[in-house]
Order: sequence, then C-alpha cells, then structure tokens
Amino acid sequence: MASSNICDITPFTLQDFPDTPSCILWFSGCNMLCRYCHNLDIVFERTKKIEEEYILDFLRSRIGKLEGVVLCGGEPTLYKDLDLFVKKIKELGFKIKLDTNGSDLEAVKKILPYIDFVAIDFKSDITRFKNITRSSLFDEFYETLKYLIESNINLEVRTTYHHKLLGYETLNQMTLMLEQLGYKNSYYIQRANATEDFEESYYLDMSKIEKRTFEIKSRQ
Ligand code: SF4
Repeated sequence: MASSNICDITPFTLQDFPDTPSCILWFSGCNMLCRYCHNLDIVFERTKKIEEEYILDFLRSRIGKLEGVVLCGGEPTLYKDLDLFVKKIKELGFKIKLDTNGSDLEAVKKILPYIDFVAIDFKSDITRFKNITRSSLFDEFYETLKYLIESNINLEVRTTYHHKLLGYETLNQMTLMLEQLGYKNSYYIQRANATEDFEESYYLDMSKIEKRTFEIKSRQ
C-alpha cells in the first residue's frame, strides 16, 4: 500500500477553509526553514507517515459530514504523487484547499484544476526572504504568486509578521508588489507566536500599513 507524506489528520475545523467545514491533512517535509516555524517535527519529518488508503477510508467515512479537505504542512507540493492523490479526494466529492509556500509552480499547476482555494504565504520581499526562510526560493515563490493571481482561483495571500524580521517599510513594499500584480482579494498579516528560541512578535500597528486597492487585515 502506498505510503503518503501525510503525518497527521485534524478531523474537523471551521477555521481553515472559508465557509467550508473541513478536515486538515498535514504533509511532512518542507524546503524552507522559517525562523518562526511551529511545525519543526513536520518540517524535519520526525513523524510517522500514514498510508494513502487509510486517509481515503477516513475521507469516505466523512462524506456528507464534511465539505472540504485542507492540505497543509510542511509543504504539500513536495509530495510526488500529490496530483493523483488530489484527484482521488476530488472524486469523493470534497472541495480542496491548498496551503503552500509557493516554491513549486509546476506542482501547483498540476493540481490546480482540482483545487477550490489556495492560501499562499508571502514571507517577505526579496530583501529579507532568505533570512526569514533560510532558503533561496524567492524567484520560485514569485512565479507561483504571479501565476495564481492571474489564474483567478480563490486566493488568499498572507504574511507572518515578526518585528525582528519584517519592518513596516518591507510590509509596504510587499503590498505594493501585490497591487502591481493585480491582487484583489483580502491580504492578511498575522503576528508570529513565540517559539522555543523566538519571543512573540510585538503588536502590529496597522496605521503604519499603507492603503492599497485591496483590503489589508490583521489576523491573530
Ligand atoms: S514554509 Fe511553513 S512549514 Fe515550512 S518552514 Fe516555513 S513556516 Fe514551517
């Protein structure tokens, strides 16, 4: 039986997929190592892997009770059989939301026909991206962001803010970039929580965020 990259299931959430009672499938492994990451066991794959068939059985048991499935992690697009797996989820009648760091446009393109909603993390503009994510994947992220905005999929762009990592000037550059790319949906900024070696971020002063053509909201 095929082992998946999925390491855990959250059986029910009302918060992670707009207007869609869902479960969450957690994918292990990530090609970034963000300084505020809370999922290091998942990132470093120090977790069990669940067989695909077990997950599909779980989803079959939720037909009529749940409407959606959220793919998050870690980074779901690292799973090599994601396109085949997503197709199977879709055949069961679920809506699918993808949470991604945007590092693999080709993987996103392959599954997009089956996806109903995408949330993409906008870690930073190029000036701080490497420092925050400890990766050199800004160009890959940018291409995915641009593609998703142009694709007209239901899209949410969001940023985790930490006062030591992102200043207001950078945040304003980022929203300007989104405006220039034609982004029209709400953009969310959430404060980073404390980690073992990173204290909680200071209060985010939304009055220092410049107005754009789309709505900018803070989210805790
Ligand atoms: S992209 Fe997400 S899962 Fe990966 S290291 Fe960053 S915060 Fe953690």
